[in-house]
Amino acid sequence: MPPSQEIIAARPRLMSLLEKAWDNLKKKSGSSKLEGRMMATAEEKLTLYIDKLIDKLVGNRKLDLRARGALQRIVFEPSKLLALRGYIRHGEIKDEEWAWTEQQSDDFKKRREYKALMEAVKQVQNQFATANPEYTLRTNTKYRSLDTQINLWNKNDTVKNLGGVLIKKSLEEIADYPEIPTDESLTKFRKFLKTQDIGGSPSNATPGLSDHGHLDAFDFAVMKGSVIVAGTSTKNNYQRENWDKPGWTEKLKNIIETVNKNLKDGRFEGPLHVGRLYEPWHYTYISMTK
Ligand SMILES: [Zn+2]
Repeated sequence: MPPSQEIIAARPRLMSLLEKAWDNLKKKSGSSKLEGRMMATAEEKLTLYIDKLIDKLVGNRKLDLRARGALQRIVFEPSKLLALRGYIRHGEIKDEEWAWTEQQSDDFKKRREYKALMEAVKQVQNQFATANPEYTLRTNTKYRSLDTQINLWNKNDTVKNLGGVLIKKSLEEIADYPEIPTDESLTKFRKFLKTQDIGGSPSNATPGLSDHGHLDAFDFAVMKGSVIVAGTSTKNNYQRENWDKPGWTEKLKNIIETVNKNLKDGRFEGPLHVGRLYEPWHYTYISMTK
């Protein structure tokens, strides 16, 4: 046959050869370097450990599929590892702990508890405004969706910094672990993540697990007109400078305590102060009827 027809006849074979070559190339460039018997860098080894640990925990039902879905949307490795640590430390996730969907939020709005909650928030705001002329108290009364929680996590500096600490410690930890993770070495790595002290807590909850995700928490900000006088920053000693020193921490706490006495369906608790995590603006709402 003429040369041109010969090429056409050989095309299917040629295509499959090209596909195979491409597959091999992809295998060599990805995290499967280890399977290609090349030495991985310490970072590649850690990435492999993180990925295999996630697989193992999902397989053992020790990691929720919702949590895995969130992890897949955290691109920066230190932030991802810190979130994984958060899920491991949290343990089993109950449905009521996970961020609402729009539908769940809409359903809640139809309930009597929602009305009682909004009235409780309003009472705090009204009493604050009365006690502090010229000032108002602003708060978000919409639930914080999973998308928002992931976005906040992805751009949070305390997450990046603590994640960096965790990466550094993890690299040291796995230095003498086998190159290819085993069941035993993955268990050891999980225990390490669970117990390792990294010197602080991030200023956002692990994605999906925020109390703001189901209106069980409120962040209050003190406003003078449209200017934020005391907001929700954790930078540069903000809590002490903008909340404690001007007396807002104490004033808000007093108002909350007064309002609590009038509430029948629930009560506010706070502010948030756990270890080094201090948020004078963050109050949880404990419902008695929800
Ligand atoms: Zn908060």
